[in-house]
Amino acid sequence: MSTTAAPAKKDLYDPLELFATDRLLDSDERDIAATVRKFVDTRLRPNIEDWFESATLPKELGKEFGQLGLLGMHLQGYGCAGTNAVSYGLACMELEAGDSGFRSFVSVQGSLSMFSIYRYGSDEQKNEWLPRLATGEAIGCFGLTEPDFGSNPAGMRTRARRDGGDWVLDGTKMWITNGNLADVATVWARTGDGNRDISGFLVPTDTPGFTANVIHKKLSLRASVTSELVLDNVRLPASAQLPEATSLGAPLSCLNEARFGIVFGALGAARDSLETAIAYAREREVFDRPLSSFQLTQEKLANMTLELGKGMLLAVHLGRMKDAEGARPEQISLGKLNNVREALAIARECRTLLGGSGITLEYSPLRHANNLESVLTYEGTSEMHLLSIGRALTGQAAFR
Ligand SMILES: Cc1cc2nc3c(=O)[nH]c(=O)nc-3n(C[C@H](O)[C@H](O)[C@H](O)COP(=O)(O)OP(=O)(O)OC[C@H]3O[C@@H](n4cnc5c(N)ncnc54)[C@H](O)[C@@H]3O)c2cc1C
Repeated sequence: MSTTAAPAKKDLYDPLELFATDRLLDSDERDIAATVRKFVDTRLRPNIEDWFESATLPKELGKEFGQLGLLGMHLQGYGCAGTNAVSYGLACMELEAGDSGFRSFVSVQGSLSMFSIYRYGSDEQKNEWLPRLATGEAIGCFGLTEPDFGSNPAGMRTRARRDGGDWVLDGTKMWITNGNLADVATVWARTGDGNRDISGFLVPTDTPGFTANVIHKKLSLRASVTSELVLDNVRLPASAQLPEATSLGAPLSCLNEARFGIVFGALGAARDSLETAIAYAREREVFDRPLSSFQLTQEKLANMTLELGKGMLLAVHLGRMKDAEGARPEQISLGKLNNVREALAIARECRTLLGGSGITLEYSPLRHANNLESVLTYEGTSEMHLLSIGRALTGQAAFR
């Protein structure tokens, strides 16, 4: 008998079960996903409505993420778990099935803050910060975007100038995740006029002249702290500069790490939306029959399952490449563009199945859809990824 035969007597499948994507994972990877899913279900999911409504995310969660080994989990040494990329992706997916805010916290800490130090820092910087960031005892943030320069960070105005042996930083960073929670900020600043004159600095957030202001009135990623960072004559010792970061390529490489987590993460939000909608449609009676029994409903569910499954195949494929020879930025762009775009479409479509109930926090799809609007924008907007793929195909850059 073929080993690929469907399980006997089973007539109901979860969407990804139907795709049998678990078969692509080894037992360690499945265990990691199950552990994170359990943590999300028991510790995070019961609180998400309140955190989303009150626009908070408790800082203490950092230590809980650290205990689970989620912070910098794909980095080696310094107390990091050292897993492969696929495991990191699966953890992101399970976190984002709870809320994009949880995955954002872990992405920024591990892939932006910690990775910038791990890849570009001195031994002293690594020893000082990475062990504490891995446990969640310290929180990090990553300041690249500015009020006038998001998609085009090469235009940044934040400046670092030499003053004797010190550096002095002035400028403003915008939309910085974890800005008000952070103990250390990786801040990117211009030291001259070219793309090669961009450096990274580790700024302890209690340094005089550094201020973080919470951005309020968000309609998206409410269970995540987003901040403006103001640097006013922030004086740092020479040792605060990341010695190996010598151009704009450095922060862009950090973004590529975080984007990889999003390729998986967005699917978590989509999967949770779809599971919620299926459960609802099976219970909800319209015109004297379960909503799930109508052809229009089944068409929606089937199409969404297709996109979710295809996204998962792409994510695992990119993860396997990353773990083997590495994935090029344009290839990560394919995954980020497709999976976030489709996840957003799925979350919105699921909301339609919930009718009026779908506009409350009691059901997850609209919360996920609202969150995914931010995910579509950060780590490179969908337009930037289209242009990156277009450049790879034509050899012509159409960014300007
Ligand atoms: C919740 C949240 C958290 C974030 N966290 C962080 C963080 O931790 N650290 C950080 O540094 N940044 C962070 N960001 C910033 C994020 O990366 C930027 O918002 C993003 O890069 C877009 O920049 P922008 O908002 O300035 O939009 P803009 O760059 O002004 O873009 C506006 C629109 O113009 C389009 N556009 C721009 N250029 C072109 C072009 N050449 N051709 C066609 N269309 C174009 C864009 O695609 C977009 O649709 C975060 C953002 C959000 C919303």
